[in-house]
Amino acid sequence: MGQEIEESDADLDRGLSREEALARLDAGGPNELPAPARERLARRLLRQLREPMALLLVGAAIVDAFALGERINALAILSIVILNAGITLVEEGRAAGALEALRRMETPMARVVRDGSIVEVASREIVPGDLVALSAGDRVPADLRLTSSASLEVDESLMTGESLPVEKHADASIDRASGLTERPTQLFSGTHVTHGSGRGIAINTGPQTELGAIAERLQGHPPSTPLQAELRHLSTWLGAAAVLVAAGVFAATFVRTGMDSEALERSFLAAVALAVAAVPEGLATVVAVALALGVRRMADQGAIIRRLPAVETLGSTSVFLTDKTGTLTENHMRLEMVAVGGTPFAPGDLPGGAAERVELVLALCSDAELEPVSGDPLEVALLESVGPEQLSVLRASHPRLGHVPFDSERMAMTTLNADGDRALLAMKGAPESVVSRCSTAIDVDGRIVTLGRDEREELERTAADMAQTGMRMLALALREVHGSPEDLACLERDLLFVGFAGLRDPTRPEAAAAVAGSRSAGIRLIMVTGDHPGTARAVAEEVGLLDPGDRVMSGAELRTEGIPDDLGTVSVYARVDPEQKLELVYAFQEHGEVVAVTGDGVNDAPALARADIGVAMGRGGSDVAREAADMVVTDDNLATIVAAVGEGRGIYDNIRRVVDYLVGGNLSEIAVVVASLALFPDLGVPLLPLQLLWINLLTDGPPAIALSLTPPAHGLMRRPPRRRDDRLLGGRRFARLSVRALMIAGPVLGSLVFARFAWDEPWARARVVMFSALAVAQLLYAFVAAGWGQGDGGASGSNRWLIAAVGLGIVLQVLVVSVPAAHGIFGTAALSLREWLLVVAAGTLPGILMTIGSAAAARRGS
Ligand code: ADP
Ligand code: MG
Repeated sequence: MGQEIEESDADLDRGLSREEALARLDAGGPNELPAPARERLARRLLRQLREPMALLLVGAAIVDAFALGERINALAILSIVILNAGITLVEEGRAAGALEALRRMETPMARVVRDGSIVEVASREIVPGDLVALSAGDRVPADLRLTSSASLEVDESLMTGESLPVEKHADASIDRASGLTERPTQLFSGTHVTHGSGRGIAINTGPQTELGAIAERLQGHPPSTPLQAELRHLSTWLGAAAVLVAAGVFAATFVRTGMDSEALERSFLAAVALAVAAVPEGLATVVAVALALGVRRMADQGAIIRRLPAVETLGSTSVFLTDKTGTLTENHMRLEMVAVGGTPFAPGDLPGGAAERVELVLALCSDAELEPVSGDPLEVALLESVGPEQLSVLRASHPRLGHVPFDSERMAMTTLNADGDRALLAMKGAPESVVSRCSTAIDVDGRIVTLGRDEREELERTAADMAQTGMRMLALALREVHGSPEDLACLERDLLFVGFAGLRDPTRPEAAAAVAGSRSAGIRLIMVTGDHPGTARAVAEEVGLLDPGDRVMSGAELRTEGIPDDLGTVSVYARVDPEQKLELVYAFQEHGEVVAVTGDGVNDAPALARADIGVAMGRGGSDVAREAADMVVTDDNLATIVAAVGEGRGIYDNIRRVVDYLVGGNLSEIAVVVASLALFPDLGVPLLPLQLLWINLLTDGPPAIALSLTPPAHGLMRRPPRRRDDRLLGGRRFARLSVRALMIAGPVLGSLVFARFAWDEPWARARVVMFSALAVAQLLYAFVAAGWGQGDGGASGSNRWLIAAVGLGIVLQVLVVSVPAAHGIFGTAALSLREWLLVVAAGTLPGILMTIGSAAAARRGS
């Protein structure tokens, strides 16, 4: 035994006592790495002010103050810059807060021995000296020194970059001088067990671990999502266009006015303001908030997003490969039937000798525990049929000598236990894996028969009959071993077949509704399971995934026939190993589908990582699967995943609403400025810089945020998934938004023309009318972008935030026109009643036009 183990006073059977563990936790601190420090407020503010648009405005303010001597104007511009940055900061803070809360929701768990029994504790509560139990799929929670191991393999790529698993042995000799990779008795925090099982004493925890030493290397900013990248691209593009237009405006004024420096400076300011107003700077922030809040809402419903890009992909999921066990079923099993010698029995009704042999296999060939209950639910169910007293008697009289843990490729598990002066090999697993290793069978009366080809086929038929009723099937086998065995694997032949165990795992009550729900949402649901085809069919029919007579394809058939070309007909794949699951993911992706996959075991990790959306199980799944996944479902429930798809669609819809609103609205500003410049040379600057900035503040702020909070439309899950190549702002969409911009600009310009020529008002006054009409029209456009009057308005109509935001904007606009103190700064003047009526008419007309337009389009479309 290593010296360190003695130092930490570990007891290799009983582990630490609860009191001792608590005391050490108090003294040594939790087993976690300190959270990365958050950026200071001042730094974040500075970052905001370094944005190109902010810099442009600051430059303009300086020109204003020094060249034109308009101090108040300059101050007003600066206030708007700071206000904008402030809004962005608050929003960013909200997004970061939501994501941080999410990170804290994922509490990794670990199994330790305390006071002699295995308990599950949060990893952060592990202390040096704790005896930690590990099996395939677990994340190593601390730096450990192994005390026992069985075919243990660990993925240490996190530490060493080496992607092949390395073998670990408790009894390897220790060489203190060797490097990380050559320490076969040590396990490192943060690495993963890929195979086998073992126990080890925690040597170091938290920041003292090797992981703690390299933690900084692993920190970094999360990459932005494809959607965010697309938005950034969009913003840059629009910004460049706006600057170009602004430069054109500036040049036009220059040509018109000649070298009058005062006019030149004014038109320079106007150009800057136009550029600023036309760029939807708010877009990235609003979208970040929409994503983060959506992610939090999903977490509340049990779907934890581990990678932000998953949210957008989720909504476009078109094929969903789902597990059976745990997702469609409860994963709470009960041993229902045992078949010995071809006769089925209820577990309690087995006659003496047969009962003894069955119990022996069930009790010894198992890694689960009853007191307290832990381990694979299937094994727990088997142990429960044995009972706690009998279990401890059998385990005490048969100490374990070695074992080969269950793995889903082999679909079987083997143990070797002492039995007096002999040893006993017990094996349980899928009938196909076990029966072929049996050469004899024993019947109820203890008669032994030799198994030939016919007898084996007969057995397989019995298994298939039992599976047909929906039971999960296990074959049980024993073998007496004399002498001292070297290699367990070569003992797994000439076994004595003991019987079949059939376990009932009831389907979840909400599964059928979830299956139907995903169907009507246009998502193809496909069951991929390691279980027997008969079991798979029964369960699939029960939840409505399969119509009677439909084909169930087995892994063996997949191997010989290959994946069907059209992928269209098979909805259930059974006896499939994880590698074939990965192949199915590839095949569907090649067909252009957006594939979501569930998984729980270590071997599922590649499929989870490859899928567009990897979904891991929070309860039943392994740490490895969770870390490879994009999303973790805390209740392992299909209904939760389907609901998350709905959320994903809702979030995407809202982002689209925000894009529609900001891009359409800002295009209308450009249209108004350019058109009035071209049409009315004596108007001078069409809208004063501060007027443009003001509109920008009113519209890009609250209404855009409110739009991102629109509740999902009613028909959300009754329409087909969004296509993978569907862009937020493709050519057709951009054309449509341009038309909308013209629908806004037309009436707004009309109000200017009416006031100037019909009522013979001076330009300055007519400009106030146009300013107000543009503000009102853009604010009301938010309702069109939300979807009012376009079919899916049922839900958006209940968006009180939007009503409040638009209302607030209108009130502020009335104030900026009516309050005398604002007149000097914003170049406004109090309007008469008839002028206000003109504003209302020009402000509401665009919304009416758009609603009529889309109603007509819808009628043409249907
Ligand atoms: P799935 O997760 O798709 O339900 P699994 O890979 O867990 O399928 O199981 C496949 C088969 O392996 C089961 O039908 C059963 O026969 C066998 N099996 C499952 N769990 C165990 C276990 N703990 N020990 C031995 N055999 C098992
Ligand atoms: Mg399983």
